[in-house]
This record gives sequence, structure tokens and C-alpha cells, in this order.
Amino acid sequence: MSSTGQYEHERAPVILLIDDCEDVHRLLKTRLSREAFELAGALGGEEGVRLALEIKPTIILLDLDMPGVDGFEVLRSLKDDPDASDIPVLVISGMHSPHDKVTAFDLGAVDYITKPFDLTELRMRVRSALRMRQLVLMLAQKAQIDGLTGLWNRAYFDRRWSNETSRVKRCDGALSLALLDLDHFKTINDSYGHPAGDEVLQTFAQQMLQEIRQSDVACRYGGEEFAIIMPDTGPGHAVTVCERIRERLESTVWARHPSRPLTVSVGLVGTSGPTLVTPKKWLERVDKLLYDAKSRGRNRVCVADVAAEPPRMADAG
Ligand SMILES: [Mg+2]
Repeated sequence: MSSTGQYEHERAPVILLIDDCEDVHRLLKTRLSREAFELAGALGGEEGVRLALEIKPTIILLDLDMPGVDGFEVLRSLKDDPDASDIPVLVISGMHSPHDKVTAFDLGAVDYITKPFDLTELRMRVRSALRMRQLVLMLAQKAQIDGLTGLWNRAYFDRRWSNETSRVKRCDGALSLALLDLDHFKTINDSYGHPAGDEVLQTFAQQMLQEIRQSDVACRYGGEEFAIIMPDTGPGHAVTVCERIRERLESTVWARHPSRPLTVSVGLVGTSGPTLVTPKKWLERVDKLLYDAKSRGRNRVCVADVAAEPPRMADAG
């Protein structure tokens, strides 16, 4: 099974056209309908910025000359907003002065197409901008993937964990975090060599991906330690997922060392409602529970429900 199931940016590209001229919308809609992307449209600058933030298009086609909020202002707003600043903007404009072009590029436009435009050329430039955008996203994603296992790496975990905890804080939702550590892993490397150790890490990563849900986020936390962020999941259900992973590893027969099974110890902290536990304390708690699982004989899941705890106690971690 490919690990790409858990990666972002899998939707079809979306192009947002911001132009006050309805004819341009109609033209692009009919002439670009066979391309492999979706088209969204706004007839004014203000609506355009709002829509850009809402749907996060892959690229934006932007008219400069619009009543009210014009294209320059739209560019400024988009580039000032961290949630939109990296969306490539192609300007399509009837303004021909070199000064307008320079200003548009200065404000962060990636291309400038003059009206009236040739549709074939527009199509080519859009395709080229999409290709470039996808390459950038792919490179950015590769920098967050662990080379050995194909799981998200620690850098991605840190970012995602901070996002998920602040989301839970805002909407009082459920969230669980599991920390998984392979038991006595070093003896595999020592007794059977590093290729055997690598095979264990890769196989365990694949087993995790097969047992978690689409919305769960599996990461290599470091060495033989792994983490699973389970959004919208209380500790009750998270335990079931972790137990499945634990049992599956325990029953795996290894071709290189059939007489040496592997097990995993798991610390798990979750909440199904409001919690006052900070993200840092949460991590400390899960670390402590993993340690408990180890000291109680390994090959087990130790769990805490931080929603059930009184605030003061929870805050003290
Ligand atoms: Mg216009």
C-alpha cells in the first residue's frame, strides 16, 4: 500500500478568476472546461479576496482594472495574508503601461497576460503556472517526509500538533495523541544487522498506515519512536486503533528472524471535550505514559483521558 493516502493537496487544481467583466468569466468557463481543473469566479476585488481565503485556489487569475477594490489592492491583500501569500497570481489586464506591469510584479504577480488575450496562450501559461505550483508543493511536502518509512517526519509532526491543539482549543473538539516505541528494537540491529532493523521500521510504518483512518496522521517521531495524531477522536476509540496496531505487530512473523517477534509499547493521551492541558504538557503526559507502558512489562497501551481531569490537576500535568 502506498503511504500517500495521508498526504495533503490531493484535490484537483482550482483556478480562481477575479474579473469584473462577465464575458471573461463566460469565455474561460466554456473554453477551459475540458482542462483538468475546477474554475471558481468572483466579479469584484473584495469578493475575490474573501473567496481566495475560503477556497484556497491553486492559482488566481486577476484583472487589474476593477471598480472599487482593484487588482493592485487585491494583490496587496493576498500577499499580506499568510494564508494566501503563496498562491501564485497571474495578472490578466488591459492596462499596457510598463509601470503597471512593474507594479504588479513588485506586488508578487508571477505572470502578466495582456487583454485581449489569446486563449491558447492563456491556457499554456495557466498550465505552466499549475505545473510550477505542483512542483513547489511536492518539494515542500518531501521536506516533511521521513525517507526510510514514508511517514511524516518530526518537523511536520511539530507543526501539525500545534495546529490540531489550537483547533481543539477553539472548538472544544476531541483529539488523541499516541506515542509508540518498538520494544528492545536495538537488539534487532545488533543481532540481525541494520537492514533487518530498517525492514522492521518500514513494515511497522505500513501496518500503522493500514490500521489508522484517513484523517489520522502517522509520523516517525525519531529512531524507533512513532506518533499518531488522531483528530476528532476521543481516547476510547483511539485505544482500539492502538490495540489493533499492537496486536498486529505482535503476531507478525519476520522472514529474517522468525524466532524473534517484535512488540510495541504505547502511551496515549486523549480528550473528547474541553481540556486545559497545554500542548506541551500533553506531550509530557504521553511520554510519561509510554514510560509506564515500558516499566509495566512492555507490549501494552497506557492511556489517560485529560477531559476527565479537574483543571488544576490537568494543568500540573
Ligand atoms: Mg476589468
